Amino acid sequence: MVLHITLSDLKKGRDVQSLVQEIQELKKEKNAVIITHIYQRLEVQDIADQVGDSLALSRFAAKTDADIIVFCGVHFMAETAKLLNPKKTVLLPDLQSGCPMADMISIDDLRAFKAEHPGAPVVCYVNSSAAVKAESDVCCTSTNAVQVVKSLDSKEVIFVPDKGLGVWVQEQVPGKKLHIYDGFCPTHYQITPKDVFVMREKYPDAVVVAHPECDPEVWRLADFVGSTSQIYKFVSNHEKQQFIILSEQGLVARMQRDMKHKTIVTTFPLPLCPNMKYHKLESIIEALKNNKNKIEVDERIFNKAASTITRMFEVTEPKGSTNSNYWEGPKTQVKVDL
Ligand code: SF4
Repeated sequence: MVLHITLSDLKKGRDVQSLVQEIQELKKEKNAVIITHIYQRLEVQDIADQVGDSLALSRFAAKTDADIIVFCGVHFMAETAKLLNPKKTVLLPDLQSGCPMADMISIDDLRAFKAEHPGAPVVCYVNSSAAVKAESDVCCTSTNAVQVVKSLDSKEVIFVPDKGLGVWVQEQVPGKKLHIYDGFCPTHYQITPKDVFVMREKYPDAVVVAHPECDPEVWRLADFVGSTSQIYKFVSNHEKQQFIILSEQGLVARMQRDMKHKTIVTTFPLPLCPNMKYHKLESIIEALKNNKNKIEVDERIFNKAASTITRMFEVTEPKGSTNSNYWEGPKTQVKVDL
């Protein structure tokens, strides 16, 4: 295991190895798993049973036998894990970890938007609250959004809350009319077309790769647009050696570490999601020790929100399908049969 010691760890005087050791012991004692989004700090990725993007982590959460899931991601992700595991304890080590994009749409906002487009089914990006999921018809991730929208038997579709991804899906599915909500990811929207031109000038041979949460003016400049797992796979399999990544810094840092023989850069200022960096080894220990920061979902909306997620799996992974193509990023340290 490669450990990444931050300055704050050194200042606290407790060595990372002993923190990791304590986490491993607590995990065993409590029958817990740690699942970690790839935007997290590298030292938090290193102690995870599963690293991945939203879809991979949802799949893992749905299949784990552990009693406790420690979710090192943002709030909606932990909520999704709880919806898929009503009987399990789901802990979010630091409750400050929310998603500004998910917070851009409330249940009232969604009802008002639905009223403007009566009869159109609602596809909600997984980056949304349980309440918004409960008011939607089917969920999607950036990996499967096109597939989910195509599966609907309707010419008009409401897509919430991400307009970057919504416009991307609209271009892939021209036969349908998407009514796209005006939400966005502040981290991906921080990247401007000018930033891309500057980097292209500096690295003229580089392949430009973008996440669809970027502003469409930005992802239109890219050579490849894909979800987090698709970006990882694309870069890892590509014959070229230089890549400009238009996505969050945690993904870039992970690829730089895993693919040392390639030059992988991003734009400046660094597209860093502060909400993804709250969880630390110490807060994971605290959560595990005291079952702290349990995630609960209001029972009045629980079943409806859960069925919106289940419907996504039914559409994208029908019974008998061998589709397990949900994560092609770095492998886990603990092998789990999915
Ligand atoms: S990167 Fe964007 S979408 Fe992801 S958690 Fe941060 S704000 Fe939300």
